Amino acid sequence: MTQEKIYDALIIGGGMSGLTLALALAKTGRKVACIDRDDPKKQLTSEFDGRTIAISAGSAHAMQAAGVWEALRPDACPIHEIQITDSGSATLLDFLSKEVGDQSFGHIVENRCVRQCLFAAADTEKNLDHIAPQKAESFRILEDYAEVTLEDNSVLRSKLLVGADGRGSWVREEAKIRTRGWSYHQQAVICTVEHEHPHNYIALEDFRPEGPFAVLPMTDGKNGTHRSSVVWTEHGSRRRSAMNLSEEDFNSRLNELFPAFYGHVTRITPAQVYPLSLIHAEKYTSARLALVADAAHGIHPIAGQGLNIGLRDVLELVKLSGAYDDMGDPRLLKAYERTRRIDNMAMIFATDSINKLFSNNIAPVRLARRAGLRAVGKLPSAKKFFMKQAMGLR
Ligand SMILES: Cc1cc2nc3c(=O)[nH]c(=O)nc-3n(C[C@H](O)[C@H](O)[C@H](O)COP(=O)(O)OP(=O)(O)OC[C@H]3O[C@@H](n4cnc5c(N)ncnc54)[C@H](O)[C@@H]3O)c2cc1C
Repeated sequence: MTQEKIYDALIIGGGMSGLTLALALAKTGRKVACIDRDDPKKQLTSEFDGRTIAISAGSAHAMQAAGVWEALRPDACPIHEIQITDSGSATLLDFLSKEVGDQSFGHIVENRCVRQCLFAAADTEKNLDHIAPQKAESFRILEDYAEVTLEDNSVLRSKLLVGADGRGSWVREEAKIRTRGWSYHQQAVICTVEHEHPHNYIALEDFRPEGPFAVLPMTDGKNGTHRSSVVWTEHGSRRRSAMNLSEEDFNSRLNELFPAFYGHVTRITPAQVYPLSLIHAEKYTSARLALVADAAHGIHPIAGQGLNIGLRDVLELVKLSGAYDDMGDPRLLKAYERTRRIDNMAMIFATDSINKLFSNNIAPVRLARRAGLRAVGKLPSAKKFFMKQAMGLR
């Protein structure tokens, strides 16, 4: 009689969090399957995801654990300076990475480059079955394992079922785990631009009443052009969105919003739009099941921390798996829930509060926050605290 294969972990969702977890566990010797409904080739197009991601030093550790950081490095642009302004004001707060050591604040990299490195690593990892495109149709939790039926009727068994299937998590829904959250009534318009002069590794965040306008430094294009990525937050009627502007009007608005040192700015990718909301699962675990990253918590991108906290979930699960033979052990799941909930709650509170404080035009609030920003700039210990948070070094 042949013995049925039981994976240590079966991950639904092969996005950036799911595949990082799959690879990191596989590298420790665990047998892992990772399933995604989308074709990897499609996931590599900029139409699928044209965003960039700010990878903190903490997240770089997760990428290292997955064995992809070295491959990613040539496409990762370091951030050496963060400039904060308020509605196009002069710089109110200026963070220099050299003030906290020789590390950068993190790196900006295109999401599709992260995916490309993860897919390439998954192709050669013998402990990992990367199954995509393939949709999970149903699952049931038994005492000793979880059992998942795929669209092609194949059945997979695993000690632990992980939902890494994003904000609208199917695993979370099927497990009847409720969520809390709200809409920010904002949307982020994103695109990549080319500019005349180098960005000097500066990331800008201009807090405007409708939401932040962020410019993030990218590696130069193949033809040597200087590139940055834009996250342009809007509030209110979609009819007045930048998405409705002609290319010419879009570019001229960008040139008004960019500081002069960039020179002339031109959009080089189609703009894409993301509605912004908060979603937080009431629990991250149930019997033989865990949620990670956006499936557990989707936050406002104001501080560029969404995936970063997701990768902290990943690192915690990998760490805990070292202490238990059975990855579905209730003690492992309990420890994961306890540690990650505290950390994620803190980030949810921070991003939500920053958005409330900065995305408004109430005169006394505006004056107070400008004074506050200047005060932080004059207090070396407060400044260092914020810089370490940005780096993901807590
Ligand atoms: C405008 C914007 C800017 C951002 N900037 C940053 C930033 O600078 N830094 C940062 O850290 N974070 C940032 N974020 C957040 C970050 O993009 C997300 O946290 C991250 O993409 C979540 O990754 P994930 O793998 O958890 O989920 P997803 O990327 O949503 O992946 C989920 C995967 O699951 C698959 N799936 C879903 N259902 C099923 C199913 N039933 N069967 C099989 N597969 C399934 C999907 O196809 C998908 O591939 C930003 C977000 C936005 C909107």
